Amino acid sequence: MTDMPLLSNLDAIDAAHHLHPFSDMKKLNAAGTRIIERAEGVHIFDNTGKRYLDAFAGLWCVNVGYGRTEIADATHQQMQELPYYNTFFGTTTPPATLLAQKIASHTGDTLNRVFFTNSGSEANDTWFRMARVYWKALGKPNKTQVIARKNAYHGSTIAGASLGGMRWMHEQGNLPIPGISHINQPYWYAEGGDLTPAEFGLKVARELDEKIEELGQDNVAAFVAEPIQGAGGVIVPPDTYWPEIARICRERNILLVCDEVICGFGRLGTWFGHQHYGVEPDLAPIAKGLSSGYLPIGGVLVSDRVADVMVEELGDFYHGFTYSGHPVCAAAALKNLRIIEEEGLVERVRDDIGPYFAEAWKSLEDHEVVGEAVSVGLMGGLQMAVDKATRRRYAKPDDVGTLVRNHCLENGLIMRATGDRMLASPAFTITHSQLDEMVETLRKGLDHLR
Ligand code: PLP
Repeated sequence: MTDMPLLSNLDAIDAAHHLHPFSDMKKLNAAGTRIIERAEGVHIFDNTGKRYLDAFAGLWCVNVGYGRTEIADATHQQMQELPYYNTFFGTTTPPATLLAQKIASHTGDTLNRVFFTNSGSEANDTWFRMARVYWKALGKPNKTQVIARKNAYHGSTIAGASLGGMRWMHEQGNLPIPGISHINQPYWYAEGGDLTPAEFGLKVARELDEKIEELGQDNVAAFVAEPIQGAGGVIVPPDTYWPEIARICRERNILLVCDEVICGFGRLGTWFGHQHYGVEPDLAPIAKGLSSGYLPIGGVLVSDRVADVMVEELGDFYHGFTYSGHPVCAAAALKNLRIIEEEGLVERVRDDIGPYFAEAWKSLEDHEVVGEAVSVGLMGGLQMAVDKATRRRYAKPDDVGTLVRNHCLENGLIMRATGDRMLASPAFTITHSQLDEMVETLRKGLDHLR
């Protein structure tokens, strides 16, 4: 704090000099920025001393909770020993290599290699190039097209935002770039009509087959999807969805890419989201929970199928970031994964706090404005609706979400809203009573919609 003598003036300095991501700066400058100064466990504290229960773990990432001095110590030590060296041109550092090994120890049989990036967006750019490079190396240079999903989020770089299916993002910057198509998401509540969830899951999965047919199988490199669509509203797919997607990718010979940036590292009660759904991707971008957000680091899990071709056939892969496998970030991630292992946090999500959360969250379905409250592990989505029986939604979904979110905020609860869905993704260390408090505060927020 010694470098920050003007704390009382921070709001004005921020308005003058700081452009925030995903923010309407005019509104933000008028309203004033919330300044978060410190955090402990599942709580964050602003500069007025107000405490908030962070039901969103930062941005789906602080999975081991705030205030882990072990991670601070590990990075402090690494910074003193070797603050930086790269992993380009034939070198590595111990933390980068050990981290790759540690990650691979949790991925099952086929995903044995990791390519490091600094973020989830870069991870998505990276697999995109890898997929094209893979097919080219196999003598199929036309297999370049990628199929993604509407309402998906894969990051903010040009490729990440293009792979994503957010229309309002595409409108800024002439996106998507060529070579990307979007099919429907498995959002039964809003788009399932008269079909059962199981029927709808199959129907939207088979859109992948139709899209491959339309583009030509020899032109399609990969299909990408989040195991559970996160920023799009925690859209939990029907059980029929993922097995059908995996079957189509296999039979059509296109790479399956699971974006594990949110679902990876335990959020669904398995080390990776694809394990929850029993499918095996060929490539999987990761970030967030890899370091629990303590330092920026991401990567791509690469299956033997792809890695063997890259290693044996490709020669140089002309791709990488100055900070790929940064030793201090890798040391933070390594310590974070050790904490998850030693404290059995994935098992805790699967067997204890996840089921507890599921029940508490589901109990909100008795509220008159709640259409559904679904969750897997510690990832929950709650749909607000005007009429439960017909699944009729509010005319202005954004207004509804903002209203409830702001009431939660006033009452010391950080919760995200995507349109008319409230999203929760707390730290794996949250207690039963803290979850009760979270659900109770949300319930009071929902009362304002009556
Ligand atoms: N992929 C998914 C599924 C995400 O949720 C995000 C971020 O929220 C990203 C990619 C992008 O990650 P980053 O913000 O680290 O670039």
